[in-house]
This record gives sequence, structure tokens and C-alpha cells, in this order.
Amino acid sequence: MDLGDASRRDTLAAVRIARFTTEDEEPRFAAVGQDTEGRPVLAVLRGDPLYAAPELTGEKVDLEDVRLLAPVIPRSKVVGVGRNYADHAAELGNEVPAEPLLFLKPNTAVIGPDDPIVLPPQSQEVHHEAELAIVIGRVCKDVPPERVRDVIYGYTCGNDVTARDLQRTDDQWARAKGFDSFCPLGPWIETDLDPSDLSVRCLVRDEVRQDGRTSQMIHNVTALVTYISAAFTLLPGDVILTGTPAGVGPLVAGDEVTVAIEDIGALTNRVVAP
Ligand code: MG
Repeated sequence: MDLGDASRRDTLAAVRIARFTTEDEEPRFAAVGQDTEGRPVLAVLRGDPLYAAPELTGEKVDLEDVRLLAPVIPRSKVVGVGRNYADHAAELGNEVPAEPLLFLKPNTAVIGPDDPIVLPPQSQEVHHEAELAIVIGRVCKDVPPERVRDVIYGYTCGNDVTARDLQRTDDQWARAKGFDSFCPLGPWIETDLDPSDLSVRCLVRDEVRQDGRTSQMIHNVTALVTYISAAFTLLPGDVILTGTPAGVGPLVAGDEVTVAIEDIGALTNRVVAP
């Protein structure tokens, strides 16, 4: 990505795109860089970089002075992939599916960093699922493996929050996976990343619950985008949740849950009763 200012190229070379607000302003986008002392600084961008070439406004704001929002609100869909890590399939007593097992989460489930995960009264067993999230960057269909890189805008951390009891009793997973607040995304989109072997961890109240690597995926990022785009047209801003490693477990009111992915960052949400 050319941000058009050679003097800034070093700090913005590995570009992270954040969506943020200050006070009650409309959401804006920024490239996340560092100042000369290494503190994170947001270089404000004009418009939505998913839809137009990024252009710096020249304004900079400190990360600590803003509220980060979900870095993307999917225009049409969040595609989930079930049982894409063998040890997670085994811990719930499931076979590994021969082909990727797909489901959809509504975009109304998306929340951002520090937003609350609201436990729905219909469930007594809500679980965390730490996942690498793919953000699609262009309209695409039937993407061959060699073109997958071209259609991916970047990656962020996702939490595929799941009402496990309802997942067991509902034939379809729409409700179990789709409650409001069940799709935390953030803290930003890393646009320059090799997703093939990254640590994916989940911490609840600072206790490590999940600790896997993306190299353990049964179907890797390339295979997933190829398979999913053979079924659905993907739009810019659509998100693919790539499955969760072993260690899923319950969330209760008062918990703080963090999804941390190597070379992306950490996404933290608190859990609240309805
Ligand atoms: Mg999942």
C-alpha cells in the first residue's frame, strides 16, 4: 500500500488499518503506526480504505485518546468454518468433516474491542472461540488458489462466540452463533501478514484457555477462500472466521476474554449479563 509519503514509509510499511471514534464523532479510519518513541499513533485516513485507495489526511491522534471500533462491519456476511482444527473437533466429540463445514453469522453480531459480549437469557452455556479472521478486499467468486492472495484485504482477531447448548439442540446454528455481540472483531486489520503459522490464543481472566497455531488448520486460508467463493460471491468487507483450536470453554458474567494472534494483536471484551 502506497501511503504517498516517503518519510513515513518505515513506520507504516506493515500497514494496520483501524476504525475509530473520538467523542461522538462518526467513525473514521486510520493507519496504525508508531511515533519516534515507539508509541502507537493513528495516522488518519480519508474515507474507507476498503473502497478507495488510502490517503493520509495529515492528522495524527494517539491510540490512547480514541475508542477503537470493529475494524470492519461486513456488508453482507460473516462466514464461519466449523471443526477446522482436529483437536477442537475431538474435544466436542465430533468427527473432522471431509470438506469445510460452513455457517453464517449475521453482521449484527459484530462488535469491536472493549464492547461487551452480552450473555443471552436463552443460553446457559456460552463459549469463546478464538479465531483468525480473514477480511475480503474485493468482489470475487470462484477464486482459484493462485488468486486468493489478491482478494484478501487483511486479517484480524475474531471471537466466534457460541451458545453451545443451543448449538446442540438447534438443528441449524443460526441462533447459537448469531446473537447480538457474538462476533467480536479487532483490534485492527493487519494487511501485510503470512497467515500460515501464527499463534492463536484465548485468555479468560488472564488464564490461557486456548493456545494453537494456524498451521494446525485442516483447511488452510487458501483452501477456505477457494471453497467458500465457489459457493458465495464474496464482497469487500466480508469476513471469514477460520475455525478455532482446542480449549473452548464457558464465559460467565464478569469475565474478560482476550483473543491474541501473533503479528496482529489482541482483542479484549468483557462479558455481561443481559
Ligand atoms: Mg468457530
